[in-house]
Amino acid sequence: MLKEYNDYFGVKFPLPKLDNIAAPGRSQFFSAMENWGAIFTFENSILLDPRVATQSDKEVSFLVAAHEIAHQWFGDLVTMAWWDDLWLNEGFASWMESRTTNRLHPEWNWGLRAVDTREGAMSRDALSTTHPVVQRIATVEQASQAFDSITYSKGEAVIRMLESYVGEDAWRTGVRSYMARHAYGNTVSDDLWREIEQAAHKPITAIAHDFTLQPGVPMIRVADAVCKNGKTTVQLTQGEFSIDQENKKPLSWRVPVIAQTVGGTAVRTLVSGGKASVTLPGCGAVLVNAGQSGYYRTLYAPKAFATLAADFARMPTIDQLGLLADSWALGMAGKMPASSFLDLASNAPADAAPEVWQRIAGVLAGLHNSYEGKPEQRAALDRFARARLAPVFARVGWSAAKDEAAPVANLRETLIRALGEVGDEAVIAEARRRYAAAATDKDAMPAALRRPILGVIASNADAATWEQLRAAAKAEQSSMIKAELYDLLGAADDKALAQRALDLALTDEPGATAGASIISHVAGGHPDLAFDFALANREKVDKIVDGASRSRYFPGLGGRSADPAMIGKLREYAKQYLPADAQGDTRTAIASIETRIKVRAQRLPQIDAWLKQHGA
Ligand SMILES: [Zn+2]
Repeated sequence: MLKEYNDYFGVKFPLPKLDNIAAPGRSQFFSAMENWGAIFTFENSILLDPRVATQSDKEVSFLVAAHEIAHQWFGDLVTMAWWDDLWLNEGFASWMESRTTNRLHPEWNWGLRAVDTREGAMSRDALSTTHPVVQRIATVEQASQAFDSITYSKGEAVIRMLESYVGEDAWRTGVRSYMARHAYGNTVSDDLWREIEQAAHKPITAIAHDFTLQPGVPMIRVADAVCKNGKTTVQLTQGEFSIDQENKKPLSWRVPVIAQTVGGTAVRTLVSGGKASVTLPGCGAVLVNAGQSGYYRTLYAPKAFATLAADFARMPTIDQLGLLADSWALGMAGKMPASSFLDLASNAPADAAPEVWQRIAGVLAGLHNSYEGKPEQRAALDRFARARLAPVFARVGWSAAKDEAAPVANLRETLIRALGEVGDEAVIAEARRRYAAAATDKDAMPAALRRPILGVIASNADAATWEQLRAAAKAEQSSMIKAELYDLLGAADDKALAQRALDLALTDEPGATAGASIISHVAGGHPDLAFDFALANREKVDKIVDGASRSRYFPGLGGRSADPAMIGKLREYAKQYLPADAQGDTRTAIASIETRIKVRAQRLPQIDAWLKQHGA
């Protein structure tokens, strides 16, 4: 990585050595710290224990190191002048981490994760409680809350879009002159834009300002295409994608757009002043945001979407992922039929890329959770999910093929968990068999399968199994594995066992930094139980959460709820215990709960109707 960075930044790492120090324990909110020449990393984000390490662990350890080493330049050698521009550190290091991982481990297909990063940012950025990437920070509390998905993930996504707009070479030339000019100095965002603009001979500052100085997510509406004389013309209109403000007047962005007919040549345009028309060579289904480097949602007219959905199998993997993500988010926000995602999931071939099936499995497992308290409707969804996912799992199997591609290992893990969630009897039985056999047969639960199997066992645990897991946690010698086993105790679906995990979290047994994590795990399945418990034991809980993160921890627990009562509880908590400048996370948690309640009431019935119509 150092070699890669020395070349990319054009300024060599100036210290005689670079240490990366691993230590036990963990924070609820970060993995590592980029101290200059002496990076600190929590052990679970860097050490690979061959007894337990999975493919995704390898990826995480590489990514975290790539992020912290990038900070030796962006953050340490050149530092933002003030917290307003925190994203210059974090957005850039995040973008660099993805870029470097994709270059040095091309077999991991990390370029496809750009869609996940963008989704992480947009789901927050489309709520009324969002903020611009560059924001005014006046207090310690505000600085602490700025370490969020807008700063990291939107920052990364906006850089990706701008790099694509000016081209890789011009972008790198601009970064090199920024480094040379500002080494050992402090900067603001405009110092970067100036160097990029000069290198690119292209005005980018205005676009960069649109995306970093104002909040929110642009939405590009795509009208039905017109094909004439072998050319396709399509009208684009810019609006704004908002989840919780129905009649919001859209902000205005200059949006770089790449469009093509499926399989055709890509054409670039800049949507400015709210409108653009683009003409593409050839005829066929039109794909907007081809390559998915744009930070915006794409909303197709119904016929245009149907044509694209029919061509799904022919699209590049990254665009399949982008279309899945857009249709899911737009459907949940009521901008498209909620079932559009299911149309795509039905059209996805069994041999689609592992990343495509990972996204589909992830959405279906999440949907399963949304049907909490509606057993009949949940059963219909589960039948559909099993019918789609089981054949994919049959191809992937329990054991890795000899020269298997790395992303297949990640898919296997996701499918075991998802099929466990949606009640696939065969998967649950085999997970149980392997767990029981592991005591005497070390091949029953190899490292690659250990975590998903334990996940299925823990969420389906009865009291005896739960005690067995606890005994294993207690006896474990490795601090890293021990912490992971204690987390599993918080994953039980059974409410009484979840309560037992909460009680255990505040004892000395799990170790100094494990308790807060157990409570967070309980909140995954039982958010109201976890929040009420944490509040009832507030003073004890405050002692096990790092001080700078307290204003984020409680909203993090309650924010997963779908109970209207939680909104009042969170408001009351913030009023009593948080200073006025530390309530951003509480407001976002409340907006998420309100959205969840609305989705369950208004969108799930559309899914029910689709499932009925399609015979699930
Ligand atoms: Zn960082």
